[in-house]
Amino acid sequence: MKTKITWLLILFTVAAMMGLGCSSDKKAGTPVQSEQVDEQRELKIVTSFYPMYIMALNITKGISGVEVINMTEPVSGCLHDYQLTPRDMKNLQEAEIMIVNGAGMESFLDEIRDRRKNLKIVDASAGLELLEQTDGEVNPHLWVSVSGAIDQVNNITRQLTRLDPSRASSYLSNAATYVKQLEALKQRMHEKMDTIKIRDIITLHEAFPYFAQEFNLNIKAVIQHEPGSEPSAGALAKLIDETKESGVKVIFAESQYSSQSAEVLARETGAEIYYLDPAVSGPMEPDAYLKIMENNLKVLEEALK
Ligand SMILES: [Zn+2]
Repeated sequence: MKTKITWLLILFTVAAMMGLGCSSDKKAGTPVQSEQVDEQRELKIVTSFYPMYIMALNITKGISGVEVINMTEPVSGCLHDYQLTPRDMKNLQEAEIMIVNGAGMESFLDEIRDRRKNLKIVDASAGLELLEQTDGEVNPHLWVSVSGAIDQVNNITRQLTRLDPSRASSYLSNAATYVKQLEALKQRMHEKMDTIKIRDIITLHEAFPYFAQEFNLNIKAVIQHEPGSEPSAGALAKLIDETKESGVKVIFAESQYSSQSAEVLARETGAEIYYLDPAVSGPMEPDAYLKIMENNLKVLEEALK
């Protein structure tokens, strides 16, 4: 079976010459005959990490011949300083398209480009307006705001339809369905968030600026400038002073990262810790992002009332 598929692929490639994007007709008289093989070639898409995977699942939902695989372990959180593993490279094998967040999130992208020269990269952040982090780098956490997620879904879809035009109408109609759900979510979140009383918050790492911008929250301080690494004693002491001075009472930690410093900060300033989910891990299901955000909304309502 595998040999048959390989043969068919070779034949299709030769026939189409262009490779990607050209669904070829079945050739009469080819040595391979199978009623089971789809008219369209199989397409393997790899996503760099969780939020891209959930978007891709929605965009490719129910489309035959398209397989989506997440390259990294679902528990790896954000990809800051992520090192590629042999397992990741194995996941990349046979993939024709890789969907990345872009905006500097995948620091290993050059290495992948080097090792897989024919891989087509779909950059979810291409052309989108980006915020700057405190360290002067662009902030890659676009998907954490619902508007950013919508922009990225549309961006991925646009690029995917160009790379695989034979399935363009299916991608577009799936994306439209998902965007409608995201728009409804955004509206629900606005209805609740527009009336909250507290607007000043502290977050664990710089995952929430796009989210804060969308819902008019002021991030007064960030605890970990290097995600996953705790601030120095001196930096923490300074943070405690600043928090006392500004009177911020709400700290948003993230379950994906340890929050010892957040606990110290809360204890020293009388602020409360709540957990927001930046949607970097979770169930591998199409509606996972929607559910995560609904849950975040509950936390926000409780924390900021
Ligand atoms: Zn991050």
